[in-house]
Amino acid sequence: MSTRPEIPGLHHVTAITADAPGNVAFYTRTLGLRLVKKTVNQDDVSAYHLFYGDARGSPGMDMTFFDWPRAAPNVPGGGTVARVSFAVPSAGALRWWQDRFDRLGVPHGDIADRRGRSALAFADPEGQRLELVDAEGAGGPAVQPWPGSPVPPDVAIRSFYGVTLDAPAAGPTVAFLTLHMGFRAADRFEDGGRPVTVLECGPGGAGTEVRVAAPWARRGAPGSGGVHHVAFRAVDDAEQAHWLAALRAARVPNSGLVDRHYFRSLYFREPGGVLFEIATDGPGFATDEPADRLGERLALPPFLEPHRARIEAGLIPLDTGAAARGGPSDG
Ligand code: ZN
Repeated sequence: MSTRPEIPGLHHVTAITADAPGNVAFYTRTLGLRLVKKTVNQDDVSAYHLFYGDARGSPGMDMTFFDWPRAAPNVPGGGTVARVSFAVPSAGALRWWQDRFDRLGVPHGDIADRRGRSALAFADPEGQRLELVDAEGAGGPAVQPWPGSPVPPDVAIRSFYGVTLDAPAAGPTVAFLTLHMGFRAADRFEDGGRPVTVLECGPGGAGTEVRVAAPWARRGAPGSGGVHHVAFRAVDDAEQAHWLAALRAARVPNSGLVDRHYFRSLYFREPGGVLFEIATDGPGFATDEPADRLGERLALPPFLEPHRARIEAGLIPLDTGAAARGGPSDG
């Protein structure tokens, strides 16, 4: 039996939108991410699954959305994701973004100190709670800036920084992450009177941080403007097989391996209730379209391709050519 692999960091975060056109506009034109894949939710083909990332949709910079127009709004509370944090290159970049948010009417807080790093909290048009963190010197996954981004590369979002989980109680969630997933406690701080445990994995720093804010008496419920699940990286199938065996040994209910065409997935819930996934780095988004044409057309995995006409008829029209190809800033 091989030794336990280390999770290198976050792979993707999947959230829920009730407004796909507004979502595409915000994440590509305002945040400057590339639409790297326009496909459907493989378990509900009436919904788009939209992926935003760097030039390639690298693991570690991949914010994705299920488009559910009738989804109820997200209810914050225990068992949900409180915030998704992105890494930007410098403190100067945070000030650039603050000006941009003011100009474009994006709701945001003040630049604040978080564990010795500056951070700027903001929200997308549906209230999705997001944050930019000055990640200078904090490492991060290998990413490839998107030349079509309306945001200059010296201030652009590079990768995830981390996620914050709201937990009914800190103990079970922290124990699960440390005992079963190899995270280590890095710090504790208070946020609004609530203790927050900071955990990290792999190399630590940008892209590896999970904060657990607890306790929460009220349970939350994921909805539009909230996060559906958080995915962590397995660099290859062997590592993912290890995690599957480890979950089974610990009797953690899980999905078994699911082939998502762009990566292979393994789903399970942490004890606080947040849905987790371990996803392989490959094969990646260029498996079914050329790297310079990612996201321009509706991509379907082979098992859905025979049903393309019916699937396309059930989706709202969504012109994503410009979002995928990019162009100069409009703000
Ligand atoms: Zn996922």
